[in-house]
Amino acid sequence: MTKLTGNCLCGEVSFEADGDVPVMANCHCTACRQSTGSAYATLMFMKQDDVNISGTPKTFQHGSDAGTTMTKHFCGTCGTPLFTQNSAREGMLGLRAGVINEHEEYAPKVNVYTSSKMKATVLEDGLPAFEKMPG
Ligand SMILES: [Zn+2]
Ligand SMILES: [Zn+2]
Repeated sequence: MTKLTGNCLCGEVSFEADGDVPVMANCHCTACRQSTGSAYATLMFMKQDDVNISGTPKTFQHGSDAGTTMTKHFCGTCGTPLFTQNSAREGMLGLRAGVINEHEEYAPKVNVYTSSKMKATVLEDGLPAFEKMPG
């Protein structure tokens, strides 16, 4: 099992994670595009208990289209998006894959919310794609 490490751009918030990554997804929803400033967000979901965070990220909450509460965690100094939580998936933490140092060992397995993807975003052949969130 690989230990995951990562940090924000300025280094004020860092983390170490050790555990399974049952889901790794590219999310093309509007909230992910807005909160990351990127064409889509790549998220690695882990048990919150498997992630040890140093420093205190700022948080912002918003409602999802499914009526759940989403909590975004980001560095208050440099603004790097780091984690996301969904009230419907208690105990799970989504890690923004772009901040992870061991990124060459992981690849997304699915595209979600392709209904709101940017037209210019090309989806990888062979990866399952869902208009919304499956299940
Ligand atoms: Zn920072
Ligand atoms: Zn999203």
